[in-house]
Amino acid sequence: MPELPEVETVRAALARDLAGKRIKSVAVTNGRVVRRHASAKEFRLLAEGRTIRSVERLGKNLVFTLDNRSHLVVHLGMSGQLLRAHGAKDPKPKHTHVVFTFVQGGELRYVDPRTFGELFVSPAPVEGDPPIELSKFARLSVGGDGLARRRDVPELAHLGLDPFEDQIGWDRFAAVLRSRTTPLKSVLVDQDIIAGIGNIYSDEILFNAGLRFDRPAQSLSTIEIRRLHRAIAEVLSDAIKHRGSTLRDEQFVDPDGRAGEYQQFHQVYDREGQACPQCRQPIRRETVRGRSTFYCEKCQA
Ligand SMILES: [Zn+2]
Repeated sequence: MPELPEVETVRAALARDLAGKRIKSVAVTNGRVVRRHASAKEFRLLAEGRTIRSVERLGKNLVFTLDNRSHLVVHLGMSGQLLRAHGAKDPKPKHTHVVFTFVQGGELRYVDPRTFGELFVSPAPVEGDPPIELSKFARLSVGGDGLARRRDVPELAHLGLDPFEDQIGWDRFAAVLRSRTTPLKSVLVDQDIIAGIGNIYSDEILFNAGLRFDRPAQSLSTIEIRRLHRAIAEVLSDAIKHRGSTLRDEQFVDPDGRAGEYQQFHQVYDREGQACPQCRQPIRRETVRGRSTFYCEKCQA
């Protein structure tokens, strides 16, 4: 599943050439991916004719700001891809569910074999709308664009702290952890606490911080909290630099169809039985509620 680094890779690639482009038409061939709307037609009419101002991100969501202050939100789900094409003559991949055609030429296609992803248009706020209830974790943020983005798109207001769009020092991060009795890994992957991290990066972050996945979050010492806080930024920035991870299923690709390279730098994820890069002990795998966790028993306490 695409996590923050993969979504950020897509965002950066699209932001460069979509800003200023006007959506001429939208074709939806699978209504499931626009399921928040009453009909595919409703979705189409909200997007057609609009000019894209910018492409941003919050957690695992791409947020396109449109010229009438509405926002097109894309969540890639388990296997979604946004792919650019020169035009209708370019062969369409299987499972293409939505095609945006631009007045200036070119297409953007949404492809998703498993159809867990979704697209929707969040209308511009109007006066008299009920106040937006922002996530209590996001409200701890002391800077960044995250809070404004949640106010723009109320559907995303529940999202917890975004490691880059929200700024939070380790001391406030400590308050978040100390309020949770659940295992560290479940805190890291809970989108309502921290937005953008999933199975791959939680394992890599916990290895980087030298912490076991099943430690109760509130049991961490100050030094451990600072280590975890730093590891989140470090691992995610590194993964963005290498354009995300493409696993053996090869589902993640950028808008030009290129795979990411960060899988070559994974320290523990999907490396069961291989030597720990730090201590040479075999990496272990444990399954918790159907999800695999990879860790080193010696390096993570
Ligand atoms: Zn080790």
